[in-house]
Amino acid sequence: CGIVGYVGHRAALDVVLDGLRRLEYRGYDSAGVAVLAGEGLAVERKAGRLANLEARLDEVGRDGFAGTAGMGHTRWATHGAPVDRNSHPHRDTTGRVAVVHNGIIENFAALRAELEAAGVELVSDTDTETAAHLVGLAYTSGETAGDLPASVRAVCRRLEGAFTLVVTHADQPDLIVAARRSSPLVVGLGEGETFVASDVAAFIEHTREAVELGQDQVVTITREGYDVTDFAGEAAPVKPFTVNWDL
Ligand code: GLU
Repeated sequence: CGIVGYVGHRAALDVVLDGLRRLEYRGYDSAGVAVLAGEGLAVERKAGRLANLEARLDEVGRDGFAGTAGMGHTRWATHGAPVDRNSHPHRDTTGRVAVVHNGIIENFAALRAELEAAGVELVSDTDTETAAHLVGLAYTSGETAGDLPASVRAVCRRLEGAFTLVVTHADQPDLIVAARRSSPLVVGLGEGETFVASDVAAFIEHTREAVELGQDQVVTITREGYDVTDFAGEAAPVKPFTVNWDL
C-alpha cells in the first residue's frame, strides 16, 4: 500500500519509519522495514499498526538497524492473510535479497510452481515472495549475475499485473532498485540522499525535488542521484517536478 526507500547519510530506519507514518492515511494492515546494516540486511515486520512494528523494534533492539540505506512498506493484503509471515519485506532463500511490493502479481501461481519445481521453499502466502526469489536467482547466475538493476529488469519482464517494487541486496549496500508498472513510483532528490516512494508525502519533509517514473521503468538510486531505464535496459525519459504543496 505504501512504500519508501532511502539511500543517504542519515539513519535509514528513522527516515523510513517517518516516511511510513506520512503514508499512514492510506490505510494498511501490516508494516515492515529492511536496513542495509553492516554486511547484511536487518529486517523486521509485523501485522497491525506501525506502533506494533516499533514495539517489535524496541524489543529486538535497534542496534542491528544502524545503516544509511533501507526501505519500508505498509501492506494492504491481497494475497495471504495480514499476519507477520506475509508482511513485507520478503526475502529470497539466501536472506540477502529483500523486496517490498504494492499491487498484484497476476501470474504468481505459475511463478510459484516454477520456483517450487526448482526446489525453492516459499514461506509466505503472498504473490510478492515470488519476486524476491526470482531476483535472488537472477542475481546469482546467468547474464544478470552480480548486477542488481539488470536482475530486477529481467524479473519485471516476467511479471504480469500492477506493481511497484523496491529491491535491496546485501551485496549492494549503496544502491536501491525500484520498478513500476501501473502503480505509482516517485524519486526524491536531496543533498547526498535520494528517496523512492509510492507518494511524495513520504519524503516531502526532506526534499521537494522529485521525479515521476513512467510506465514500465526501473530506477537505481544512490547517494549521488538516480538512473532510469525501461525494462529492456534502455535509458528512459522521466518527468522532474517540484512539489509545491504547503506542509
Ligand atoms: N499483493 C501484495 C500482498 O498481498 C501487496 C499488497 C499491497 O499493495 O500492499 O502482499
